[in-house]
Amino acid sequence: MYLKFCGAAQNVTGSRHLLEINGQRVLLDCGMAQGGPKEKVRSLNENFLFNPTEIDYVVLSHAHIDHSGMLPRLVKLGFKGKIFCTMATRDLVEVLLLDGAHIQAQDAKFVREELGKDILPLFDEQDVRSTMKLFNTFEYFQKFKLAENVWLTFYDAGHVLGSAIIAIDFKEENEQRRLVFTGDLGRKYMPILNDPYQVDHAHILIIESTYASHIHDSFDTVHEELERLINEVVKRNGKIIVPGFSLERTQELVYVLHELYNAKKIPAIPIFVDSPLSSEIAKVFDRYQNYYDSETFRDFLSKAQSPFRFKEIKYISSVEESKRLNDFDGSCIIIAASGMCEAGRIKHHLKYHMGYPRNLILVVGFMAEGTRGRQIVEGERKIRLFGKLYPLRAEVAVINAFSAHADKLELLEYIRNINDLKNIFIVHGEETECAVLRDNIYNILKFKGKVDVVDLGEEFEVTAAGTESELGQRRQEYLKEMAALKLKV
Ligand SMILES: [Zn+2]
Repeated sequence: MYLKFCGAAQNVTGSRHLLEINGQRVLLDCGMAQGGPKEKVRSLNENFLFNPTEIDYVVLSHAHIDHSGMLPRLVKLGFKGKIFCTMATRDLVEVLLLDGAHIQAQDAKFVREELGKDILPLFDEQDVRSTMKLFNTFEYFQKFKLAENVWLTFYDAGHVLGSAIIAIDFKEENEQRRLVFTGDLGRKYMPILNDPYQVDHAHILIIESTYASHIHDSFDTVHEELERLINEVVKRNGKIIVPGFSLERTQELVYVLHELYNAKKIPAIPIFVDSPLSSEIAKVFDRYQNYYDSETFRDFLSKAQSPFRFKEIKYISSVEESKRLNDFDGSCIIIAASGMCEAGRIKHHLKYHMGYPRNLILVVGFMAEGTRGRQIVEGERKIRLFGKLYPLRAEVAVINAFSAHADKLELLEYIRNINDLKNIFIVHGEETECAVLRDNIYNILKFKGKVDVVDLGEEFEVTAAGTESELGQRRQEYLKEMAALKLKV
């Protein structure tokens, strides 16, 4: 088996891993690179470290844009094979990619009008339509034949709706072997989703490492924490503003609020989900109730309730309705994108509401360095919006327990329960997180095989005996290619 890591190498975006098995080229994920110097990110998304026309199949772990966002670009550049994923992932991808095409067009327009430069969008709506025609969907546990001696199975990753751990069983050198790619690995005991399925054997593991050095807060205290915060704000007649991540986080928060309403722990104030994207995503969640976990069945579906549709909640799509929220009298909860406060309607809600101490900005997601969200979390008292500084006098509270990624202990536990492992490749984590996971695999798990923290563009040949060699010559060629692209690697 030949492996080439073409993204999410010592960072958390642009997931793309190329496999070659028995002459078949399989791309695991085709994500968008995000964050960092603009030129470099643009280049990573414009070009691939492989020829798109030579890829036979794409296998998609889940819908998040850093795993699926460059599929239309791949198709635009000549990919004509099939794309495999679960049904819910397909539907979510369609919603997210159409939104992505819209953002691409907006960005190009902005650059043209404001900076007088012409940049072409990376893809457009038509590319998304062409991409959607290539999808083939399967259920979890449904083993299907990808090619001669190559079989594919999806297992529930418990990360977002439809997310999958990908297992590829193949015969090479007359030996039956198995590669497992975790995609993004979820957590146990989270709302809506099943716990991540524990794969019990694999020879080669490609594993994410987003939170390899962190231990998350337990989800047990989330209800109490929200109950306390919301009751305090309602008592002082304030509003609660939540920067929302449209896929999963928003639905999880709505789920917990619905539980608190049902238990009469908080007053029945309205919740406005002010995001056209979240409204579309909610429709996909409605269609795939069979993906929900048993607690969701017990607490909602068995009582003919949807966790995401109830009297107090209103999904807002139109701009006019969104603007009318400024005049809403009394306490309410407003959830609006983007999650890190860099774009979208949340900026308007912050502008109108963050100047009043009676209001609360509730942070339920990770705020990356350099974002407006991070400034808010770090206690800045003046925030720049639409080119002007505004005072931040509202209370700011952070609830960290909503993370959708396995933490340090969960990652190690997951690896420990996989038998027959010989090679582990660590991806999808910042440099230090990758290194911490590698050291912990050797030192805590006493792993006797080989662990690699991969570099961008790094290639490996893994034999049936588990030995691997870095492909020195190809690496040299790759470095030359990258130098030509003026990228530092
Ligand atoms: Zn993800």
